[in-house]
Amino acid sequence: MTATVRTVLGDLDPAELGVCDSHDHLFLRSPRLPGEELDDQGAAAEVLRAFAAAGGRALVQWTPHGMGRGGAALAGLSRGAGVHLVAATGLHQAVHYDPDGLADLYDGLAGLFTAELTTGLRGAPAGTRAGLIKVAGDYHGLGEHTRRVMAAAAEAHHATGAPIAVHHELGTAAPDVLDLLCGRYGVPPRRIVLGHLNRLPDLRLHRHLAASGAYLALDGPSRAHHATDHHLFDTIAALAEAGHAAQLLLGGDTTTRGARHSPGPTHLLTALAPRLAREFGPALPHQLLTANPARAFAAEWAAP
Ligand SMILES: [Zn+2]
Repeated sequence: MTATVRTVLGDLDPAELGVCDSHDHLFLRSPRLPGEELDDQGAAAEVLRAFAAAGGRALVQWTPHGMGRGGAALAGLSRGAGVHLVAATGLHQAVHYDPDGLADLYDGLAGLFTAELTTGLRGAPAGTRAGLIKVAGDYHGLGEHTRRVMAAAAEAHHATGAPIAVHHELGTAAPDVLDLLCGRYGVPPRRIVLGHLNRLPDLRLHRHLAASGAYLALDGPSRAHHATDHHLFDTIAALAEAGHAAQLLLGGDTTTRGARHSPGPTHLLTALAPRLAREFGPALPHQLLTANPARAFAAEWAAP
């Protein structure tokens, strides 16, 4: 079976993915971020055009089900900008949802995730499919909602082959996530992308997590992660020295309106990539922005 990246326009040869922002948001809505909703299609198009002009070719949106992920707009935006878009199914922490709506979703959660990966996103035109499953841990632990969502994510992974991307609250509970998803539910670590680890700059922990074989997404530079940006290069250096450069991914993680253009996804290419080349040589930005995402987000999709 051939591995492909499942984009909103169809399955793509990973060699065609190109320079990729591995964790970002064109659309996002949460009761936790009032007034900062990313819901403007024109603004999303502008962000993508700027990203493409800077050499960007692909963007992975980690906005899961029920958070205004813009499913109906994604295919048109991708075509218009010439940027491959990967959309997400899955669920975030319970605090990002209306409790009644969430209760209605709990029955048949794995079926919902699987359908969004194989048939199409709920609320989007037929054929606009998700290419990954987004889940979220809690602060230093995994609560009941989280465990329920992760069980469904693992089931949908086994049904489809989809990669699973994980939000870690302040960078914590990643070992618990690997214990649950890999230890209990048998998801291969190389199918998991651990996000937000830069929020807990514990290099020994990072090396331990990387030794599992999972991918590590460093979600910055970004307004949401500004406090972590000063140790991004030390984190990359330590993990590369430990032999884990092939597991590192970079993303802009734009979560508010104010961050759309500054820094926004383009900053990864105009500011971060040249600095990476200067510090570590030209092979490293290619590895982190092109070679690694092509492996991390490609899957041998099971037939529906
Ligand atoms: Zn995010």
